[in-house]
Amino acid sequence: MHRLTESDLEVQATARAFADELIPFEVEAELHDGRLAPDVEAAHRARARDLGLTATNIPVEDGGRGLSTLQQVLVQEQGGRVTNALAWCMATPPGWLPAVASPYQRERWLLPSVRGDAVECYAITEEHAGSDVADLAATARRDGDDYVLDGEKWHVTSYNEATYAFFQARLVGGDHDGEHAMFFVDLPSSGVRVVRTPAYSHTIGHHHPVVAFEGVRVPASHLVGAEGAGMTFAHEWFRFERLMVAARCLGAGERLVEEASAFAQSRMVGGQPLADYQLVQAMLADSVTELLAARTLVYAVARAIDDGADRKVAHAQCSMAKLYASEMAGRVADRAVQVFGGRGYMRENVAERFYRELRVERIWEGASEVQRVIVAGQLAKRGLRDLV
Ligand SMILES: Cc1cc2nc3c(=O)[nH]c(=O)nc-3n(C[C@H](O)[C@H](O)[C@H](O)COP(=O)(O)OP(=O)(O)OC[C@H]3O[C@@H](n4cnc5c(N)ncnc54)[C@H](O)[C@@H]3O)c2cc1C
Repeated sequence: MHRLTESDLEVQATARAFADELIPFEVEAELHDGRLAPDVEAAHRARARDLGLTATNIPVEDGGRGLSTLQQVLVQEQGGRVTNALAWCMATPPGWLPAVASPYQRERWLLPSVRGDAVECYAITEEHAGSDVADLAATARRDGDDYVLDGEKWHVTSYNEATYAFFQARLVGGDHDGEHAMFFVDLPSSGVRVVRTPAYSHTIGHHHPVVAFEGVRVPASHLVGAEGAGMTFAHEWFRFERLMVAARCLGAGERLVEEASAFAQSRMVGGQPLADYQLVQAMLADSVTELLAARTLVYAVARAIDDGADRKVAHAQCSMAKLYASEMAGRVADRAVQVFGGRGYMRENVAERFYRELRVERIWEGASEVQRVIVAGQLAKRGLRDLV
């Protein structure tokens, strides 16, 4: 129904088989703070790399796989079928970086990330700057050949795995006073410390600590692109990551429908399978219908990008994809818990884990309300025709 080419189907099958290898490790991860034995985690990372499931978003000339946007979606969709972030080993390094990295930055951070030898994290959000990311309080001040960075960043995902951070701040002084800039900060670095590591709803091995950057000195060669360009990268990243969030939500939705349907067929209540009760059928039917709608939307947006869609139109369409797919996945998880009954409230059950894990998909990379504001803004500017 979705008209995939031979090569799309091959990529999809490889990713699906790998996701199926990861699924048996979910409960162990759930019961151990999201962690598996170090040698098992290392083996998963190596296998993802060997199967060609990492750096799918990076051009071949930069060492990546150079997959089409649709194929990237197909890979991340399969990763979305796995809980506890076990599929994050199918890493996607910053796809916007090759275009702006200096030769030095390319050797030092980009290529190692693409090979899987370096891991990045993003230190952008602050206590009082999230949806309103333009309101950062963190500062970057030029001092001779260096910049001095100060600020406290929240929710720095994967900080405990990372070898470097992208730190975004407002410039103080100079020609671009008040504008944004982004910097590479190696980890660990003098002046960078974890303030605290809060517990979150999901159980994954990647932490999201609050991190203080206090008088952190980096050479000017650590500036990403130009002064004043910081927000451009954030927008590029948002567009890509919103579509990938949507893709992973499709995978989660599929897994939930499959598992809830299988359970409904096997569980006998009052002498007949749950699946024979029309109220249960309604939950499954609504879920599978919404899943099809979301998949059709997400694949169409990916194809439009591959066909060279206008950047602003793509931005709005990626927002629509994330908005609809994340809300779909939340509803599907809620129904799946209901179908599983008491079992669906147990952490050993896939529906329970997804019920918690999927909640953040409506918040990070822009909350649903922010996506709606973006879509409505483009609708007002362009009219309906460009967008649908
Ligand atoms: C688990 C997790 C991991 C994260 N990882 C990272 C990371 O690695 N790096 C990083 O920099 N950030 C990260 N974030 C931060 C994330 O991007 C922000 O949480 C998100 O953008 C929302 O910002 P906020 O939390 O400040 O919410 P707020 O901006 O305080 O918004 C709160 C709520 O207000 C509503 N709202 C906000 N703006 C509008 C509006 N314009 N119109 C209508 N309603 C609105 C929405 O309902 C929103 O949910 C992470 C967050 C979480 C939870």
